[in-house]
Amino acid sequence: MEGGPGSGKGTQCIKIVETFGFKHLSAGDLLRREMVSNSEYGSMILNTIKEGRIVPSEVTVKLILKEMESSDNHKFLIDGFPRSEENRIAFEKISGAEPDVVLFFDCPEDVMVKRVLSRNQGRIDDNIDTIKKRLKVFEALNLPVIDYYAKKGKVHRINAVGTVDEIFEQVRPVFKACEQKALNRS
Ligand code: UDP
Ligand code: MG
Repeated sequence: MEGGPGSGKGTQCIKIVETFGFKHLSAGDLLRREMVSNSEYGSMILNTIKEGRIVPSEVTVKLILKEMESSDNHKFLIDGFPRSEENRIAFEKISGAEPDVVLFFDCPEDVMVKRVLSRNQGRIDDNIDTIKKRLKVFEALNLPVIDYYAKKGKVHRINAVGTVDEIFEQVRPVFKACEQKALNRS
């Protein structure tokens, strides 16, 4: 799952998990959990998130792989990662795995800004200054990842403006098709 801040990745992930039974791995949530857990990386993660920059790949990849290894599910929905080509390359190298499909939540900046400013989740990065930085980082570092997967024919673009249910009706057929493919293989 790829998309800018406030594009609705997390919200749709909840619905995908309910409907299709994936294990949801939100890179941002894993980092926030690590940040408050007395980890040696705590203050580095805090400062990085506050500045809207990207945490070093080795930290994020380690957290994601730890969750994958300790899960009895084998279908993973990775939300908000990879954030950069460096993230992508590190993950693929260490895990030896690549995503089957990539969803890109395409959303105009003004809509993303409005959503982030009104979500009231108490996040240190949901303020206008950090949002501006996150949008810049998204464009410079995350869009190239989406281009990379698009060239491999893996990207499904979702129009991320609309109600939660309207957006899910675009998401659903993508995962329906995945289920069908898995059935055909077995
Ligand atoms: N982040 C990161 N690497 C990741 C995912 C998140 O460094 O793989 C950091 C980054 O600073 C980002 C913040 O965590 O701006 C929040 O990410 P999240 O996906 O939770 O928020 P969203 O951008 O979807 O609002
Ligand atoms: Mg999120």
